[in-house]
Amino acid sequence: MKKRYLLQTGAAIVGVMALSRYLSSRSEAQTASESGFEIVKTEAEWRRILSPDQFNVLRQHGTEPRFSSLLDKQFAQGVYHCAGCALPLFSSDTKFDSGTGWPSFYAPIDNAIRTSVDHSFLMTRTEVHCRRCGGHLGHVFDDGPAPTGERYCINGVALKFVAQ
Ligand SMILES: [Zn+2]
Repeated sequence: MKKRYLLQTGAAIVGVMALSRYLSSRSEAQTASESGFEIVKTEAEWRRILSPDQFNVLRQHGTEPRFSSLLDKQFAQGVYHCAGCALPLFSSDTKFDSGTGWPSFYAPIDNAIRTSVDHSFLMTRTEVHCRRCGGHLGHVFDDGPAPTGERYCINGVALKFVAQ
C-alpha cells in the first residue's frame, strides 16, 4: 500500500515537472516571438488601423495584384514608410522600374527590414518584413541592378510614400 502510494506520488511529481517544463518552454517561445518585434498588436488591433488590403499583405503575407499599386510607376523624391508602423523603409534614391508590376528597390534603408526564408507556393524565396512591426512587405531576389544586384519586390499597399 505504502509502496503503491509512493509510486503514484512519484508519477504525479514527474507529471507535474513535465507539465511545468512544457508550460515554461511554451511561455518562453511566446515571449521570444512577442519580443522579436518592437511593435506588437493583436489581430483585432491591426484590423482597426489597417485597410483590408493592407491587413491581407502586412499581416497575412498576401500579395497585391501586379500593376495595382500607383507607387509602382512613381519616382518622385521621397521616402517609403511601413504602412503598419510608419518606419522609413526605402528611399526613392534606390527605386527602379523592374517591369514586374510591383514597386522595386535595389536596397532598403539601413536597419529597416529583416528577411526570412519562405517556402510557400512550392518555391524557396526570401521574404522581406518590417524590422519594427514584422509586417510582411514582399520578397527580395538576386536579379536586381547595380550596385547591389538585389531586387526588393515590394507590395505598394504595404508602403506609405512621403514626398520630400
Ligand atoms: Zn512596420
